[in-house]
Amino acid sequence: MDGICKLCNQLKDLRDSHIVPRWSHRRLVRVGETTGMPRTIQVFDDTAMVLATQDSEHLLCAECEQRFGLWENAVARVAVQPDDSFPALDRVAVIGAAADGRKIADASTLPDDLIPFALSILWRASVCGLENYRNVSLGARYNEEFRAYLHGETPIPDNVRLLVQLLEPTEPRIDRLIVPPESDAIGAYHRHQFLIFGMYFYVAVGGAGELHLLDEESLDRNRRVSIGTGDFIRRNLALRVAGVQARGAFARDGNR
Ligand SMILES: [Zn+2]
Repeated sequence: MDGICKLCNQLKDLRDSHIVPRWSHRRLVRVGETTGMPRTIQVFDDTAMVLATQDSEHLLCAECEQRFGLWENAVARVAVQPDDSFPALDRVAVIGAAADGRKIADASTLPDDLIPFALSILWRASVCGLENYRNVSLGARYNEEFRAYLHGETPIPDNVRLLVQLLEPTEPRIDRLIVPPESDAIGAYHRHQFLIFGMYFYVAVGGAGELHLLDEESLDRNRRVSIGTGDFIRRNLALRVAGVQARGAFARDGNR
């Protein structure tokens, strides 16, 4: 299908581009098979669905898709693996503790690909026209600033900070979950977040001078990550699931 590639702005044959990388979906399916859990439950806003296929859209040309693929592969190698090992957690060195109990770790041993990977997931969700991501928006200015950075034209935009939390395996397990990107405003900046196989990504954008408060823990500025139990994600999911309407196969199979 010919069209304008959203990343390089050229008229090209466009690929069916995934928003959340394909490996994560494959891994989720595989984990589901061995544990007997449903294949994949996705929660979007107030709707939970079991999806057989991932959502995708004709967004990128083959060359740009390949560019994203390199970052995705690097992240796939350090995320929680099908055998439950977690290379990223094994590799980082704890150097301190935050007031809320999380550990702070030196992440200079992790691939730099984590940074463009995180921004590319949010950018894809922001520029696609899919209904599931209608609430994920970087706004026109950052759509373009992210695009230029992801295409290799500019350094990372100034008003952006990336925080990454590695989740320790605690019950109930959430480190095998994918929570797709979502956005909201907090104080002076917008936060965009998603969870993928043990790694919680938090990107703060905008924020009239407040962003430097995040510098110390940030991956992009200071090569740090935090390590925690992810209780805030568990609480959010519990609240969310309580208000969720089941759709599709989830509605039919939910009472099993
Ligand atoms: Zn392209």
